[in-house]
Amino acid sequence: MDSVASRIIKAQQYAQERDQRIRVHTLKVEVRGEHSTHIVEYNKGVWRCDCEEFQLRGVCAHVMAIEAILGDAVEPALVVTAVH
Ligand SMILES: [Zn+2]
Repeated sequence: MDSVASRIIKAQQYAQERDQRIRVHTLKVEVRGEHSTHIVEYNKGVWRCDCEEFQLRGVCAHVMAIEAILGDAVEPALVVTAVH
């Protein structure tokens, strides 16, 4: 097998096994909300968003959306403080 083919196969394997293999350290994402666009940042387990809800609660829909996309590659923003 040539090196290009084996690299493609490896890449597919890494992508499929992303829960074990992929970990995000830093990230900056733009999220278009209902009313305005927000910037979500992630830095070694710490989330940040420039919206009002995040300033009040430490979590918001924008952060949660990025969490849902990235799954186990990031630490959760919600520190299990009862959201009932
Ligand atoms: Zn937000």
